[in-house]
Amino acid sequence: MKDKKQGPNTMSVHAGYHTEPLFGAISCPIYQTSTFVFDSVAQGAARFAGEDKGYIYTRMGNPTTAALEQAVAELEGGHAGLATSSGMAAIVNIFFTYLGAGMHMVGTSAVYGPSRVVVERDFSRFGVEYDFVDTSDMDAVKKALKPNTKVLFIETPANPTIKITDIRACAEVAEENGLLLVVDNTFATPILQKPFELGAHVVVHSMTKFINGHADVVAGMIVTSTEEQTKKLRGVLNYHGGCIDPHQAWLVNRGLKTLGLRVERSSENAQAIAEMLSSHPAVEWVRYPGLKDHPQHDLVEKQMSGAGALMAFGIKGGLEAGRTVMEKVKMASLAVSLGGIETLIQHPASMTHAGMSTEARKDAGITDGLVRLSVGIEDLADLKADIKGALDVLL
Ligand code: PLP
Repeated sequence: MKDKKQGPNTMSVHAGYHTEPLFGAISCPIYQTSTFVFDSVAQGAARFAGEDKGYIYTRMGNPTTAALEQAVAELEGGHAGLATSSGMAAIVNIFFTYLGAGMHMVGTSAVYGPSRVVVERDFSRFGVEYDFVDTSDMDAVKKALKPNTKVLFIETPANPTIKITDIRACAEVAEENGLLLVVDNTFATPILQKPFELGAHVVVHSMTKFINGHADVVAGMIVTSTEEQTKKLRGVLNYHGGCIDPHQAWLVNRGLKTLGLRVERSSENAQAIAEMLSSHPAVEWVRYPGLKDHPQHDLVEKQMSGAGALMAFGIKGGLEAGRTVMEKVKMASLAVSLGGIETLIQHPASMTHAGMSTEARKDAGITDGLVRLSVGIEDLADLKADIKGALDVLL
């Protein structure tokens, strides 16, 4: 499946689809159908038995969905992709497949809020044990392991603290302890970070973010590294029902084609904005992987090929001052989500991470004054003017 000679932009444009033979459509058709007709009873039976690879029912697979799945799997350098109705559906599907009563998981403390809450609130009801720790500290990861630990779930860069976890070091720990290492690669995308090359077993995405990139779809993707994982995860997804709709899959596939360009442009903008924030007198601190003062800048350089579009910062005067800035910006929108063409600003403690307990937020470093910025692809001069203008109000 992998053609090592192809670069990520070529794969984004071409992977997963070969011009359809009927009319030569260059864009993958949308197979907007719930079910597929069998030629005979024998063929239907053969499809259910897995002896005939044709499609059965869209919850279990669909050609438009398959084109997207293959494209993202190729970009990640994985075995197969499993598209889901949302990033959370992908994450829940992984937990549902690999965790059960009496099993323990270790996760990044500052993950996207619901990825943590779903374990603490829901999987715990079925006897799953957990510890969410600062996975940027490998000693904390090792200390959290128990004889029944089965899954190590990391998000790097983490949402919203922008802390970096060493994927290779986690892969070594996973190897030594027989754990499944799952990496949420939403923030970095396969353009900037290749978890499988660093030893990850499963990669997960909220495709709602950079992969689709246009703030018009909610979708997720699981990428596996082995046939065995694919079978297990697909088996759960088929019955659990978190599948993507074909039209949604088509939209994401269209967005995917410009992923590299969008990531490049938004990362360039983000670097310039992070530098501007760092030197602005109203700003107390900035956390961006591309700044030399990021505490893990060396790891960023080793593990990522670019710093991405996300940053967190704190404003002198705490939450009140932050509120002023979030309400004064004009072009940047006050909205959750990230990784789209437009710049978004939000307040994690009262928005994306509000579901976490105050203690868990404190523990994860999500302070009340933290503001998260997802930089888009607008013209830098306009972006700078907008954000600087809002900050200048505080002077
Ligand atoms: N993972 C990360 C890092 C996220 O930021 C999000 C959503 O913000 C998710 C997973 C969940 O994705 P979705 O909103 O598509 O369910």
